[in-house]
Amino acid sequence: MSVRVRIAPSPTGDPHVGTAYIGLINYCFAKRNGGAFVLRIEDTDQTRCTPESAQAIFDSMKWLGLRYDEGPDVGGPHGPYVQSERVKLGIYRTYADRLVEQGDAYYCFCTPAELEAMKARQRAANQPIMYDRRHRGIELSEAKARAAAGEPYVIRMKAPLEGEFVYKDRLRKQAVAKPWKDIDDQVLLKSDGWPTYHLAAVVDDHLMGITHVIRAEEWLNSLPKHIWLNEHLGFTPPEYVHVGLLRNADKSKISKRKNPTSLLWYRRQGFLPEALLNFLALLGHSFPDGREKFTLAELQAVFELDRINVAGPVFDLQKLRHLQGQYFRELEPEKMLSEVHRAVDARFSALLPLFKERMTFGGDFIWQAEPFYADSVSPHAEDLVPKGLDRQHARLLLEQVQLTLKNYAALEQAVWDAPHLDGVVRTLIEERSAIVEGDSPEKQALAKLWQPKTLFMVLRVALTGKRESPPLFDTIAQLGSGKTIERLGVAQQKLR
Ligand code: GLU
Repeated sequence: MSVRVRIAPSPTGDPHVGTAYIGLINYCFAKRNGGAFVLRIEDTDQTRCTPESAQAIFDSMKWLGLRYDEGPDVGGPHGPYVQSERVKLGIYRTYADRLVEQGDAYYCFCTPAELEAMKARQRAANQPIMYDRRHRGIELSEAKARAAAGEPYVIRMKAPLEGEFVYKDRLRKQAVAKPWKDIDDQVLLKSDGWPTYHLAAVVDDHLMGITHVIRAEEWLNSLPKHIWLNEHLGFTPPEYVHVGLLRNADKSKISKRKNPTSLLWYRRQGFLPEALLNFLALLGHSFPDGREKFTLAELQAVFELDRINVAGPVFDLQKLRHLQGQYFRELEPEKMLSEVHRAVDARFSALLPLFKERMTFGGDFIWQAEPFYADSVSPHAEDLVPKGLDRQHARLLLEQVQLTLKNYAALEQAVWDAPHLDGVVRTLIEERSAIVEGDSPEKQALAKLWQPKTLFMVLRVALTGKRESPPLFDTIAQLGSGKTIERLGVAQQKLR
């Protein structure tokens, strides 16, 4: 039987670097074995999934060069490849009904309030949180009558009450073993008739002829349910293989707060797809001769699923930058030039309007816009201190503006544009000015410090290193919250 593998991302938010990692492993395994690589979109959670996000997954996979043989936008004999379209064909309902008729699944009529109360009781009694199986014994004829009368219900699997689930994953020394009594009667079909991930994934893997499900280890807990579903639906289960999750340096699951996780971010930053793929490959699969730099084609030729490292590969951005540098410096001059253009042009149309009033020649853009492209700027300490005030004053000001902007940036509804930022800083100025009214020399100094003219100059120097710049709030908006907050911090250091 020829190998068929898939990735099955859910299109919520930006495409994730973890999807690229799992995609790369599946792709190489398929190619090495002359098999097919399938992309399926799992969008049964309609509250969180969007078509834009699905499109971004297709684009990212193509950008990386991980071409799939079958998928929503390329077609194939097992379509549709989007689960919401399959729901409309009634595919999952048929299988849920089959389990019910066999006596392997049942209707559960618990209301959300009842389920909440159940959880609260279990929490209070320090018991594991799981459905207490209270509707498992309802006669099917009675259940059907209640459903026909319009009572909302879900369909749950009848997990075994005794025995142990055991599975040996080829990448793990220890078998997965779990007593069945600890495994929930999983909801398979929700009250709106849509399937949960578990039912939909198992049914689709079967119908799409998937031979190996290679996915992240966060799905290990779901494995008993998936094997059980395969068995009770009369399917031959695919081989399930669970690879390590990408991790932050502190070994936690890779997260936005500690590492950029969006593939769109890497692309915008100018990372070359070859470098990103090489880096991801190194996290999971060493090269037999120990080399660290290789192409996708070279990896494909030596790829062995059994060589995958499952011990929490740590995502080290520094290492990725290092590889990126190597790839970049080897680019053909023409390709390099186009990368430079891409980097400059990406910000060009947003920045040019800020400078055009002050430009005489096109080339003026180069020095005027420099602080916006640079990683950092070096303001002179003396430029940061307004006349008649001292370093401490300037530091105090920078500290408070930094804190205010940081708090603002953390708000979910924050809009990082000039009018909003103007409002935020002016509110701070008003608050401060009200506090510092008085006649003492120190109060007068503080009153001067919190005058817009003084404050704007200090911020301008801290953010651009120059005493002249485009309007301050346009400057802050264009720098973005990360660079703004960082530069305000660096300027404070200069004043120590
Ligand atoms: N839809 C799941 C996800 O978003 C797929 C998990 C699997 O590969 O089975 O990761």
